[in-house]
Amino acid sequence: MYLETFGCQMNVLDSELAAGALRALGYRFVDDSNDAGVILYNTCSVRDHAEQKVRSRLGEMAVRKRREPSLVVGVLGCMAERDGQAIFHKSPVVDVLCGPSELDKLPALLDNAVRTRVSLVGDRLDNNHRCNAVIADRSAKVAALQGGASRRSATLSAAADHLELLDLSRAISPSDHNGSAYVRITRGCNKFYTYCVVPYTRGAETHRPPDHIVDECKRLADAGVLEITLLGQTVNHYRFEHGASVVVGGVTQPQKGRAIKPNMNSARHGAAARVTTFADLLKRVHDEVPAIKRLRFVTSYPRDFTDDALQVMRDSPRICRYLHAPAQSGSDAALTRMNRGYTVSEYMEFVDRARSFLDEPEKGRPLMLAGDIIVGFSGETEAEFHETLTLLERVRYKSCFIFKYSPRPGTAAFDRLPDDVPDEVKRRRNNEALALQHTISDEISQGFAGDVVHVFVEGVSAQERKRQASEQVQTGKYAAVTIGGDAVAGGAAPVGQGAARRVPINGSDGRVQMTGRTDGDMIVHFDAPAGLAPDDLVGRIVPVRIERASVLSLFGALA
Ligand code: SAM
Repeated sequence: MYLETFGCQMNVLDSELAAGALRALGYRFVDDSNDAGVILYNTCSVRDHAEQKVRSRLGEMAVRKRREPSLVVGVLGCMAERDGQAIFHKSPVVDVLCGPSELDKLPALLDNAVRTRVSLVGDRLDNNHRCNAVIADRSAKVAALQGGASRRSATLSAAADHLELLDLSRAISPSDHNGSAYVRITRGCNKFYTYCVVPYTRGAETHRPPDHIVDECKRLADAGVLEITLLGQTVNHYRFEHGASVVVGGVTQPQKGRAIKPNMNSARHGAAARVTTFADLLKRVHDEVPAIKRLRFVTSYPRDFTDDALQVMRDSPRICRYLHAPAQSGSDAALTRMNRGYTVSEYMEFVDRARSFLDEPEKGRPLMLAGDIIVGFSGETEAEFHETLTLLERVRYKSCFIFKYSPRPGTAAFDRLPDDVPDEVKRRRNNEALALQHTISDEISQGFAGDVVHVFVEGVSAQERKRQASEQVQTGKYAAVTIGGDAVAGGAAPVGQGAARRVPINGSDGRVQMTGRTDGDMIVHFDAPAGLAPDDLVGRIVPVRIERASVLSLFGALA
């Protein structure tokens, strides 16, 4: 089986959970799609570009399936949910569709698809059909999609949330990670930004019971995880009302998200209405799982950030001084068209408040902010775009994703607002915003020169892997060292969660470049000293003195 993941961290976690469930049933994953009889794509629909990549993969698989009719191809995730059964018509190569809210059903779907495929192919061969016949029999297709159920009424909320079982049954072993892991705290989204497809593909916002989250963090810590990133589309909207909790089959069910009234999250209620707010949850994970040395969370919604969450961050030394809180635009008019629910001055108030609580450069703990911006959204004028540039200058993100607006079918903007900014204007604005952000990121990076930072070591740097791969061709100089898995044959394997990695022995100059991150999410490269196996550094937090900086990375030596 081969699984390729596109898009955000949420998809990375979905893939990990789905793969764990499949492994437990005896499926084996391979790194090369050519070696697999089942191909799965976990897809993203946020921008058309992400979907195009999947369409191109499906085209390649269609060619392969003519030679190999028993091949099973599955489309998982947001594209499956957005396109629905239409995918079977557009891409007959697809056998399995599974939306992000139905991933608990994937093992059954695959079992069904594999058996059907094998028997169909068998029948056809028995009937002397040509082996390369394209099988378009609809009966071979299986799908699990949320469809119309995505926004069920509260009366149905007592139905068991089987997706929760997928998270609860997460297989966690020391060989499954490189010291870092994601944990989901909310699913779905209720914000309905006019440009965004997520509420339609991932469904209504639900909040997981806090005990489930804390237990998962403990189990990860027991398996050697040191860094946890809590995930949610608007992660800081988390809120669980214990008085309203429902238990089905012995499992406390996730709760539907509700709008938070002003200051609601900061109020402590009586025992009868006991609430776990986002601030409470952060504190619980921090205090109850001390083996987690770094706790972070993405993505934050600026308006839901209450002082008590910032206070918990300030008072909890192992919570990272890092916030990813997208503004999307620096224009009030554009923010209104996007239905972002705040003004630029409200966003700046949040940034100033967060800095006043958390920015402590003198203690070596500056607050690092990251953002997302969309340029060329419907109706964006040149003046509005310049307001966005002004916002970038005012906020000074350490990094910011800048996207060209991509109209998504099914969203309010697609139906009601024209995509009226020509593509060349989007491209030019994208480049201008990127150039400005580049300058800001560079200035921020240069500010670290001479500092000692604490780096969570993720693995060998990409550059080092390339260098070693070319050196390997010349000298064959590799040792079959593994990190948390079996040695793999072939060239330098990818670094990533759960990947068995082949680490080069120290190069001819005796050094291997490693990569990791600061608590503020700055990427740091440093050389592993000669004589120290790179594996021994992975998953550790080490002090590094910064010697030089580039736009996106810091470079230094172990201090
Ligand atoms: N829930 C998060 C939020 O919007 O704050 C993350 C959603 S999305 C997975 C990540 C980013 O993609 C968004 O922050 C936004 O900048 C970008 N994005 C979403 N829809 C888009 C669209 N239609 N065109 C271009 N960029 C888009």
